[in-house]
Amino acid sequence: QVVTRFAPSPTGFLHIGGARTAMFNWLFARHHGGKALLRIEDTDKARSTPEAIEAIFAGLDWLGLDWDDTPVFQSERAGRHAEVAHQLLAAGNAYKCFATAEELEAMRAEQREKKLPMRYDGRWRNRDASEAPEGAPYVIRLKAPQTGKLTIADEVQGSVTVDARELDDYVLLRSDGTPTYMLAVVVDDHDMGVTHIIRGDDHLNNAFRQLVLIQAMGWPEPIYAHIPLIHGNDGAKLSKRHGALGVENYRDDMGIVSDAMFNYLLRLGWGYGDREKISRAEAVELFSLANVGKSPSRFDAKKLVNLNGQYLREMDDAALAALVAPRVAALMPDVDAAASTDLLARAMPVMKLRARDLNELADGAQFLFKTRPLGMDEKAKSLLEGDGIAILQTVSPVLAETAPWTAAALEDKVTQFAEAQGHGLGTYAQPLRAALTGQARSPGIFDVLELLGREESLARINDVTR
Ligand code: GLU
Repeated sequence: QVVTRFAPSPTGFLHIGGARTAMFNWLFARHHGGKALLRIEDTDKARSTPEAIEAIFAGLDWLGLDWDDTPVFQSERAGRHAEVAHQLLAAGNAYKCFATAEELEAMRAEQREKKLPMRYDGRWRNRDASEAPEGAPYVIRLKAPQTGKLTIADEVQGSVTVDARELDDYVLLRSDGTPTYMLAVVVDDHDMGVTHIIRGDDHLNNAFRQLVLIQAMGWPEPIYAHIPLIHGNDGAKLSKRHGALGVENYRDDMGIVSDAMFNYLLRLGWGYGDREKISRAEAVELFSLANVGKSPSRFDAKKLVNLNGQYLREMDDAALAALVAPRVAALMPDVDAAASTDLLARAMPVMKLRARDLNELADGAQFLFKTRPLGMDEKAKSLLEGDGIAILQTVSPVLAETAPWTAAALEDKVTQFAEAQGHGLGTYAQPLRAALTGQARSPGIFDVLELLGREESLARINDVTR
């Protein structure tokens, strides 16, 4: 059975690189009918916060990624990690190192000076603990092989080999008995039965060091897939400077919907022919590591926003309205989100035609909820200059006698009237827009009329003409 895991360190938000790693693990497991596990790597107590853990859960949930079993918290497993370190010690695959901090600093200074690779020189590898002073603190180090080669047949990177000489005897257990990250990851992956490790290629070097430990324990080797990191548009590794944010920022601040984010992140590093739009279900069906790209993909916020627009247009109007309503309420404190959803749902078919994100929709929907008399922005005011008011006075009775009050009937009526007067439709549409919405931009004016209803529409016009 395939078992994958997503193992974030909760030291910040769930950034998009992490979100994509989570997705690929989830997709791979779901594709194979296996298990997708979640492990919170919270061993760095000083930097791991409950808020960050919450943000990770919320972000994953938003993306529609569910996990099997209960999440593992690495910090709760320190006892088990120490047990493995002692097992390795007893088997002669690890040893106690009594080197002091000053000693190690001097060693590093010398290596730096001689331009030697900076690594622990194995000074306690062949010494006996009895040579150390009584009660001196020690760490437990892995006895890594010093000859031969290690090869990883990475599912994305291909075959990668390193010389064992490049691997040092790294620390497994610190002098205070706490496990190092390297030990914790290997033990947890083993105990969780992880078969496939899919993660960013910044962990490829760690993989070799981890493999040495796995081999020392005689555990089965997992299959690795190290995926290239996401880069910004300038080709540099993605960072905050590129506007790389936590997934909650894409949701809250940019108004991106979950399906669009999922689709965008999927395509960022994985492809199926030239298909751009791929749903979750299709992704589960089609996902394979063979189609993960070997070079870094570039994050392009514009593409994300465009894709988001496509998803908005296909969304169910009630579902979309439910997402827009709280945003309208945030813009207009007098509007009750729950009470506004019905009208919003009716407005969505016309409003979503051009919108690219939820904020645009909320902003554009404000006219529906304004109270009379409407405030008017400068552009709207300018639409009423000249003979704007007079035009409204002539068209208002025409509207008043239109029945039924539908966009189609209203358009018919006003079109006929405009022709009879020898005007274009625009002559009426612009002043109407100003009077009905207080803005110079809105959905089609007949849709606006229908959405506002007869009474409200005529009253808004009357507020301007009287
Ligand atoms: N906790 C590590 C990180 O957030 C991931 C470790 C792993 O996937 O092996 O970068």
